[in-house]
Amino acid sequence: MLAYARRPKVKTKVPGLSWRGMPELPDIVIYLEQLQKRVFDESLQGVRLLNPFVLRSVSPPLAEAEGRRVVGLRRLGKRIVLELEDDLFLVLHLMIAGRLHWHSSKTVKLGRNVLAAFSFSTGTLLFTEAGSKKRASLHLVRGEVALEALDRGGVEVLECGLSGFRTALLRENHTLKRALTDPRLFSGIGNAYSDEILHRARLSPVALTHRMTDEAVERLFIASQAILHEWVERLRQETGSAFPKKVTAFRSGMSVHGRFQKPCPVCGTPVQRIAHAENEANYCPGCQTGGKLLADRALSRLLKTDWPRTLEEMENRKATAKGDPIPDLNSGQR
Ligand SMILES: [Zn+2]
Repeated sequence: MLAYARRPKVKTKVPGLSWRGMPELPDIVIYLEQLQKRVFDESLQGVRLLNPFVLRSVSPPLAEAEGRRVVGLRRLGKRIVLELEDDLFLVLHLMIAGRLHWHSSKTVKLGRNVLAAFSFSTGTLLFTEAGSKKRASLHLVRGEVALEALDRGGVEVLECGLSGFRTALLRENHTLKRALTDPRLFSGIGNAYSDEILHRARLSPVALTHRMTDEAVERLFIASQAILHEWVERLRQETGSAFPKKVTAFRSGMSVHGRFQKPCPVCGTPVQRIAHAENEANYCPGCQTGGKLLADRALSRLLKTDWPRTLEEMENRKATAKGDPIPDLNSGQR
């Protein structure tokens, strides 16, 4: 059923609810930059696993990571990777409510949300997850091949160029919202930045990829790069030399994401939203849909077939999955 999702009543008291959103490329980049300064070339002295379920790999055992030096840090989609000596990779996926915290002191009080604690000579990295749904994960793998198996395969928008972007976008016929947030097609983009990208590109979230003109594809590509660059830079400025604290998908400078009913900063039209299960798209009817509201029965059908039910499903979508049946609908098309 298509429904307008109710706004969360509690905004700050219950961290970790889905409205916080999943950290996406800009958030992960900033985490990595700050981690680089603190743990690169340092030895991982110890790992304390406070919630055994967070560890999703069996071999090599986690103890193998201890005493190894961090020789690199990188992003893998929305995951954070610490490369250790001896070809080992610690892979952290924050999912929705997972966050990282840095304490420069060695004695750290471990709250009940702590999943794992990583000790370095420079301080302690805490991996936390708020809420009762435990989705965040930790893998320890050996070798690039094992690491690649965790890669969902989406292209890097900041590196792929227009032709690579077009190939990924047009691989299957889906709504733009789904295509942009599919980790098999694009790396690191989720609900928040896809909304911002589509708004910048002045495209409807439910326009179908196979009906895009060359000009629209190029506009979307340029908007994707611009939004991601701008937000990395913005978060970098906000974070300064500190470790990121307020990592959320809802940021005050956003144009449409999380701004239901607020005026679009470009045209002043109240921002609208469409919601299906745990997914939500915010858009400006003035800028993106020619004034049309995307809330009719046809759209409901479209969302049912073209949107995964949950964010988790979207993240875990099988790499081998074939596209869903193509809906015969042209709703919201520009
Ligand atoms: Zn607008």
